[in-house]
Amino acid sequence: VRILFASETEKAEFWLPLLREALPRDEFVLETDAPVDVALVATPPAGTLARLKGVKLIQSLWMGVERLLADPGLPKGVPVARLIDPGMVAAMSESVLAHVLDWHRHHYRYRAQQAERQWRRRKQYLAGDRTVGILGFGELGGDAARKLHALGFNVAAFSRRPKQVAGVQSFTDLNAMLRITDALVCLLPLTRETRGILNSRTLGLIRPHGCVINLARGGHVVIADLVRELDSGHLAHAYLDVFDNEPLPASDLLWKHPGVSITPHSAALTEPRTAVPKIVENVERVRRGETPHHLVDFEAGY
Ligand code: NAP
Repeated sequence: VRILFASETEKAEFWLPLLREALPRDEFVLETDAPVDVALVATPPAGTLARLKGVKLIQSLWMGVERLLADPGLPKGVPVARLIDPGMVAAMSESVLAHVLDWHRHHYRYRAQQAERQWRRRKQYLAGDRTVGILGFGELGGDAARKLHALGFNVAAFSRRPKQVAGVQSFTDLNAMLRITDALVCLLPLTRETRGILNSRTLGLIRPHGCVINLARGGHVVIADLVRELDSGHLAHAYLDVFDNEPLPASDLLWKHPGVSITPHSAALTEPRTAVPKIVENVERVRRGETPHHLVDFEAGY
């Protein structure tokens, strides 16, 4: 199998030694000058996708594929697979737990109090007093939901299709879930339906003094609406990892907003050590003429 590696963000020098070791019979190339069977891509150089007409599989190196799908050069009829990387899934759940606990245990307030040398204890809540609502009940949302449930939180999760997972209340009605939610975690793919899903109407349904944790894509949140809900005191805090414009410009007012904690799109990074075995599985499926795992549903957009 001839395999292209094309990314402006993922470093070939990290990936290729692991890939070559795992697939010693196969050939890896960095240029699209000759036909390839499989293309491994994440933010590929401009024009790359348009040259992949005959490939058997475009394997994303990321879990989110909205940028790939929006590329006008993406060849029609070529299957695209998302990468489900167990290391990245675990990292994302750790980020979710870190933010939920930061809010639940008032640590964001104690950091602000420390800056003012203020000794003031806040009311303690039990995990069972809080409901965490997760937007997206897929690979990431599902893992985070199970781990939050294990800590004793009430957990609700929103998806297009209803699900049966022990200890997690499944919702397909967003409004109904938001009305019982204290901490809202966004782990949705960015699609036509989910862009701007967190706006003044939906944020207003979250229970008072709750928090919003967006680890999915910047386009999910209408930032002006979020800031209004923080300024009014309806929401206590927001944890934002992703932005429409990344890197977030130094001049952006969000950096200084006391109700906002910012991380640099670092909630979960692809981990080559755990991702390579998943890529190998799909390459082997291509070799055997079988359908690869985790193919994108082009109609749904994820
Ligand atoms: P996934 O397995 O495809 O799960 C997506 C979930 O969202 C599914 O439960 C799906 O419902 C639900 N959904 C999609 N459209 C919906 C809609 N219109 N209404 C209600 N629910 C909807 O995706 P994943 O692997 O968990 O990844 C989710 C996203 O996380 C990625 O697309 C990416 O943007 C983001 N991400 C961010 C980082 C970071 O570092 N910040 C890292 C990795 C990924 P069904 O179950 O009914 O299909």
